[in-house]
Amino acid sequence: MPDHDAIVVGSGVNGLACGALLANAGWRVCVLERNDWFGGAIKTAEITVPGFHHDVFSAWHPLWVGGPAHAQLGDDLARHGLEYLNTDFPTATAFPDGGSAFLLRSAEANAAELDRHHEGDSDAWNALLAEFFPNADLAFGVLGTELWSRHGAGLGVKAMRRLGRRGAVAFAGTLLVSARDWLETAFASERAHGLLAPWVLHTGLGPDAAASGYMAQVIAVAVQEGGMPIPRGGGAKLAEALVALIRERGGTCETGVHVSRVFRGGVQTADGGRIGASRAVICNVTPTQLYGDLLEGFRGKADRFRYGRSEMQIHFALSEPPRWDGDERLGQTAIVHVTPGLDGVSRAVNEAERGLLPAEATVVAGQPLTMDPSRAPEGKGILWVQLQELPWRVKGDAARELDVGDGTWTESLRERYADRIQARLARHIPNLESSILGRTVLSPADLEASNVNLRHGDPYGGSLALDQNFLWRPMATQPGHRTPVDGVWHVGASTHPGPGLGGGSGALVAAQLLEPPFAQRLAARFRL
Ligand SMILES: Cc1cc2nc3c(=O)[nH]c(=O)nc-3n(C[C@H](O)[C@H](O)[C@H](O)COP(=O)(O)OP(=O)(O)OC[C@H]3O[C@@H](n4cnc5c(N)ncnc54)[C@H](O)[C@@H]3O)c2cc1C
Repeated sequence: MPDHDAIVVGSGVNGLACGALLANAGWRVCVLERNDWFGGAIKTAEITVPGFHHDVFSAWHPLWVGGPAHAQLGDDLARHGLEYLNTDFPTATAFPDGGSAFLLRSAEANAAELDRHHEGDSDAWNALLAEFFPNADLAFGVLGTELWSRHGAGLGVKAMRRLGRRGAVAFAGTLLVSARDWLETAFASERAHGLLAPWVLHTGLGPDAAASGYMAQVIAVAVQEGGMPIPRGGGAKLAEALVALIRERGGTCETGVHVSRVFRGGVQTADGGRIGASRAVICNVTPTQLYGDLLEGFRGKADRFRYGRSEMQIHFALSEPPRWDGDERLGQTAIVHVTPGLDGVSRAVNEAERGLLPAEATVVAGQPLTMDPSRAPEGKGILWVQLQELPWRVKGDAARELDVGDGTWTESLRERYADRIQARLARHIPNLESSILGRTVLSPADLEASNVNLRHGDPYGGSLALDQNFLWRPMATQPGHRTPVDGVWHVGASTHPGPGLGGGSGALVAAQLLEPPFAQRLAARFRL
């Protein structure tokens, strides 16, 4: 009789969420993590100067707080020390001419802000909300449902009943619009375009990609309604609380254990040991690892799975808070995008996809101290900087400034590219360069080395182009979360509903495992 009901391979947010939901339902859960920390792309550490606690990878938790796992586990996690902080200034864009635009926390405030840039753009905002809210359950439902299941079919039936056949098809069509097409049709002001376009990067897309308009709308509404929550003390508090909950329910969580094989009923670890699970093995890994290494007999199955653009993180410890030029609210804003606007994002994405270092990258400048002063000594500053438009193999520099050598991410290329970004930021934050106490940069190669799931430095677990998204994630030949091996499940950013800290795939798999046995047998019989 195995010691565990379920083994979770990998402690990313989806593995931990799934494990905690099962443990809360009475399952004996065992989480095995190869790194020396729990959380995968969640880690808080003093990586610049002692006393400065940086979220090394992910930092912003609106997806978790708005997600299904938090809804079920939030109270338990709060008992284990997880506390969320929020802000009235979730995001803004700073433009090269010193102007800025803000996304705020109420419909009225956003309407007024959009009118500030172009009288009448508030109408488009109000129209978006009026169209979005009555069908929000459908729009969010696409992201919160196992699409290849009777629940997915149920979502389709619900849409048909409410909207009619043509209406449902038309609704589905609106989900495919690109951000450019939506923004340019809806808003007259380029400031509005530049405020919302950078957000599609956080969904792994670019503003000209199919479905990026839908993702931009979902994010815009989610940010207005939910803000930009972060845990007091750092993102790691979420992973710590999930682990504490699993252990409290009698489960086991271990670091430093690499799983090398997965089969029905258990796993084999790199040291040759075998661990059994009577009900499920849940793999929080990429398709590349799952089918290439872990499951026997499926090598080649994921060879066509594509990874997305690479990214870089730059962490600054500052002797004083950043003082932004222009609107003083920029200094209070959680995430400021620095970009020329919609065309700037589009150009940088296109350059990265052609293998070039973008001439004018979209800089994501995160300011966690605006909500959580506990992360640095009093009076100091922290900047969390993310660059989501980079190639894995660098063919050249669109700005024709940097020698990219053999195209790999050497330490020298990493630091010189970070210098360029720092100089760009310094044009908006005049006290930046004089206040730097420490800077730590993570290139795409560093990201891959830190977490095997961040393959090619892709933060989002695989390209989210339409053929690998939604119904087709991770792969059209094996969509959803079941694998060809009964009792072995696939979760994580590579699976629906994709990347981010929502814990969505973990929650979807836990829900299926906790269904009554009859429903499970039916689903397994028809592979739903
Ligand atoms: C730099 C960066 C910034 C981001 N910022 C944000 C943000 O602010 N907000 C947001 O919502 N999202 C953000 N994201 C995206 C989000 O963090 C990820 O999509 C999400 O955390 C991925 O979770 P996951 O469940 O797929 O697992 P991962 O976080 O990828 O973790 C998987 C874990 O499994 C382990 N593992 C893999 N194989 C094995 C094995 N064989 N044996 C044992 N262990 C194994 C790995 O070591 C790893 O710890 C960011 C991502 C990155 C990289």
